[in-house]
Amino acid sequence: MKYHISHYNKEAELNFPEDITIYDTTLRDGEQTPGVCFSKEDKLEIARKLDQVKIPQIEAGFPIVSQREREAIKQITHEGLDATILGLARTKIEDIDVALDCDVDGIITFMGTSDIHLEHKMHKGRQEILTICMKAVEYAKDYGLFVAFSAEDATRTDIDFLKRIYNKAEEYGADRVHIADTVGAITPQGMKYLMTELRKEVNIDIALHCHNDFGLAVINSITGLLYGANGLSTTVNNIGERAGNASLEEVIMALRILYGKDLGFKTKYLQELSDLVSQRSSLPVPYNKPIVGQNVFIHESGIHVDAVIEEPLTYEPYVPELVGQKRKLVLGKHSGCRAVKAKLDEINIAYSEDELIEIVRNVKRSRENGKYINDNVFCEIVRKCRKKEE
Ligand code: MN
Repeated sequence: MKYHISHYNKEAELNFPEDITIYDTTLRDGEQTPGVCFSKEDKLEIARKLDQVKIPQIEAGFPIVSQREREAIKQITHEGLDATILGLARTKIEDIDVALDCDVDGIITFMGTSDIHLEHKMHKGRQEILTICMKAVEYAKDYGLFVAFSAEDATRTDIDFLKRIYNKAEEYGADRVHIADTVGAITPQGMKYLMTELRKEVNIDIALHCHNDFGLAVINSITGLLYGANGLSTTVNNIGERAGNASLEEVIMALRILYGKDLGFKTKYLQELSDLVSQRSSLPVPYNKPIVGQNVFIHESGIHVDAVIEEPLTYEPYVPELVGQKRKLVLGKHSGCRAVKAKLDEINIAYSEDELIEIVRNVKRSRENGKYINDNVFCEIVRKCRKKEE
C-alpha cells in the first residue's frame, strides 16, 4: 500500500474534466518573486527538470523584459523538450514579435479587465481594451501560435464584461482563456459560481492562475477544475509575487492521492525539482511545507516512531518514495529501544542488549541537555557507550 486516505472522500461527487493541462509558471511568475533572478543556465535546468516530471506546458518567461531573457527562452525552445513552451506578452504587437523571435510554441497575452485596473492602471474604457485585446489575439493567431488570452484580475471583474471579452477571444481564435485570480481574492465557493457562469457561454479551454494570498490557491484551483476549468497554472514551491502561486507539487499530489486523479506525472522527481528551484531562486523551502518540506517524512515522537517502524502509513498519508523524499526517524527524549534499534540497524552497527540500554539512556539525557540528536551526535553517543562496555 502506497497511500491511505480518508474513505469519506469517496462520498463526494467529483466531476473532473478528461484532460487537465498544467502550465507551470515558475520561470515567469516565479521569477517575479521579489529578489529572484534566474540565469540562463538556471532557467534551462529548471525547464529540463519540469520536462522530466512531464509538465505539458512551460511558461518560460516574459520576452519583452530583456535581451538575456529572450536568449534564455530561446535556449529552452531549442532544447527539444516534450513540453510546449509559452511566453508572456502584453497585448502589444512588439511583445508578440519578440515572443515570435524566441520561437515559442505559444503566448499568453494578458490585460487587466477589472474596473480598478481599467481606471488606475490602463486608464482606458472597456470597449477600448476589448479592441486592443482582440487585435493581439488575431495577430498572434495569424502566426500560427497557440494563444491563451488572460484576463488579469478576472476574479474582480464584472461577470458580463468577463463573458463578453472571453466570447470575443473565442471568436477571434484564442485557444484558451485564463482566469487570473491576481491578488488571490476569491474563495472556492466564488470560484464555483464564476466557473459555472462562464461555462454557460465559453466553449474553449479555461485555465486558472491562482495566487495564494489567503492560502487558498490550491483549493481554488482544484475547485475550478471541478466546475469546468481544464488548465491550471502552478509554480514549484509556490514561489511568485507576494504570497506566491498555487504550488505545483501540492496541486498534483492532492489530485493524485486525495482526489484519485492521476495526471501521469513523474512525481518521484518532485523533490529534486523543489531542491533545484529552491537553490536557484535562493528561496528556502519552509520545513513544514507540504510535500517537499524537510520535516514532512521525519518522525520524532516515540509513539509515532514505534508505529511507523511497524507500518509507516499509521502516521503518513502516503509513502515518501512517491515524491522522491526519504523517511527519517529522529531520536529524542521520548525515544525507546525500538527507535534506537532501528537507527543502529540503519547505520549498520552491531550492539549487545546492554549496550542498547545504555545508548537509549544516553540519547534521552543528551536531548534533555539541549543537544539535537542528529546522526553525528548519535554516533558519538554510540562510540562512548560501546567503549564503556568494553
Ligand atoms: Mn500572477
